[in-house]
Amino acid sequence: MEQTKQSPKKIAHIGIAVYNIEASIPFYTKYLGLTLEKTEEVESEQVKVAFIKIGESRIELLEPLSEQSAIHTFLEKKGEGIHHIALEVDQIDQRLIDLKQNGIRLINEQSKQGADNAQIAFLHPKSTNGVLFELSQHI
Ligand code: ZN
Repeated sequence: MEQTKQSPKKIAHIGIAVYNIEASIPFYTKYLGLTLEKTEEVESEQVKVAFIKIGESRIELLEPLSEQSAIHTFLEKKGEGIHHIALEVDQIDQRLIDLKQNGIRLINEQSKQGADNAQIAFLHPKSTNGVLFELSQHI
């Protein structure tokens, strides 16, 4: 088995699909006492995201900006809930090559710009126990 040497460092975030970010934030901030770091719109993905810090990780709330958004499709099919788990990695593009060589199906063959200045790529849930994993590298 080919393997990229360094293990993922942590859960970068857990992505949760929501209908309305503003309406969702008080549960995390007011009732759980967590801190909202920032909200941001990612035009290329047609999503609005909010990052809520929890220890060394974050919760990423995702609201669709249009019907073209994958989050819109997810909400239509499944309603609100956990959408993906993001792993913080180094050498993201090399890692994608290694995963592919090991037969892991990729949604993104190369990393792309995501929220929070991260390079990201998604792995296909068919290869990962039905979980949508995102690899995320902060540069
Ligand atoms: Zn994410």
